[in-house]
Amino acid sequence: MAKSLIELRGVCRDYPAGDHLLTVLDTIDLTIKAGEMVAIVGASGSGKSTLMNIIGCLDRPSRGEYRVNGQPTDGLEPDQLAAFRREHFGFIFQRYHLLASLTALANVEMPAIYAGLATAPRQERARELLGRLGLADRLGHLPGQLSGGQQQRVSIARALMNGGAVILADEPTGALDSTSGAEVMTILKELHDHGHTIILVTHNMEVARHAGRIIALRDGRIVADQKVAPPGPTATLANRTTVAHPWRALWDRFAEAFRMALTAMAAHRLRTLLTMLGIIIGIGSVVAVVALGEGSRQRILKDIKSMGTNTISIFPGSDWGDMRSGRVRTLVPADAHALAEQPYVDTVTPVVNRSVTLVYRNVSVTAQVNGVGEHYFRVRGMELAEGRLFDAESVAASSQEVVIDQNTRRTLFKDNPAEALGAVIMLGKVPCRVVGVTRKADTSFGDTESLNVWTPYTTAMNRLTGQQYLRSITVRVADNVPTA
Ligand code: ADP
Ligand code: MG
Repeated sequence: MAKSLIELRGVCRDYPAGDHLLTVLDTIDLTIKAGEMVAIVGASGSGKSTLMNIIGCLDRPSRGEYRVNGQPTDGLEPDQLAAFRREHFGFIFQRYHLLASLTALANVEMPAIYAGLATAPRQERARELLGRLGLADRLGHLPGQLSGGQQQRVSIARALMNGGAVILADEPTGALDSTSGAEVMTILKELHDHGHTIILVTHNMEVARHAGRIIALRDGRIVADQKVAPPGPTATLANRTTVAHPWRALWDRFAEAFRMALTAMAAHRLRTLLTMLGIIIGIGSVVAVVALGEGSRQRILKDIKSMGTNTISIFPGSDWGDMRSGRVRTLVPADAHALAEQPYVDTVTPVVNRSVTLVYRNVSVTAQVNGVGEHYFRVRGMELAEGRLFDAESVAASSQEVVIDQNTRRTLFKDNPAEALGAVIMLGKVPCRVVGVTRKADTSFGDTESLNVWTPYTTAMNRLTGQQYLRSITVRVADNVPTA
């Protein structure tokens, strides 16, 4: 027997509603084994998406226990949870949630950018996945130039980018015509045949019937959990009548609610796409995020989390590969300050960088100087091996302080590593005192061999580069923002 992959025990999810708590998921006990294909059905508001969010670690239970592969998830730090999402889950949404100004290829690459995969293998994998899904000749197309069905296939490729052992699909066919919907279901079934675990939410019993197991939710409780024989060429009329009954009964029970729910969907989404694009690409649109209603904002944050990250990097320019982006000057420190004020933001750091020659005594090497804010190290989850980090005061004063990584210490202070702390090194023409050494290289982007040092961004801008614009802003999303 396959082992339990997903295990919920007594899981509840409450939301505050005025002066009381609304229990949206009520004591859910659910086990899903690796390799199963499961459909979750139920009326609108019955808790399907909330359950999916908990399964996908986009949200946490208020009470109860959730284990993946036997591993409890409640002790995981937000960073670990993000990595966990990346490793286990691929997400597919009703409206695809592709970034409108990125090509199909760039959209598929995205989760792997967060996973830190280098450019060449990343693009190769994205190309291969899109090819497998019949989109080899659409790599450079923007979502708007693709049909709904094609866009959903792009989002399936994106879900598979980091492996997607467990595919979570919330209404994947809800926005598609029946032909495209059938196509998407065929792909999901093929993925299932290839060993992926598929969990899908649907209003459509015809769609649900493709799963081997249908779980019905009502008012946050599981009211039915039935194995069904999926339809197929082997389903003769005789055994069809015997298997038809369970889902037919469910269908009758929920048909009306499903219809209502369908009408309730549909609003909002275009704006979500635009805004999400904005939050990743350009500050102009980030202002739009700030102006949006709470509901949409929560959806955006969920989109971001579903990519397996807690951090968003905002670059000027129009694409990941935009050659101009290094020269676009629209991003300034004031943008970072504005973002820091937002309730969904934990911490923000401006980033400027440039490569300079570091000199200490007779050693001279080229290194990347990262001008960052005092929150950078928290945003990036970096730790100190010794010394200290610079603080808000250092930033305000453009202090000539520098934090170096282990590679830099090994290279500059190879004769006497203990000498590093407190030493004064030259960053180009600017002398800076080494105040701290980081525990390990910042490996989430770039290679591990490079030499990295960090100074306050003010020091970098005012003393080193003379440039008054930023290379990027990195935002760490608040951990306690509810996702809806
Ligand atoms: P479904 O996906 O089945 O339509 P949801 O899981 O989205 O249902 O929502 C279940 C219930 O939880 C609904 O009544 C909804 O209003 C409520 N709910 C969902 N998210 C939130 C939230 N962030 N705050 C308060 N209530 C919420
Ligand atoms: Mg839903």
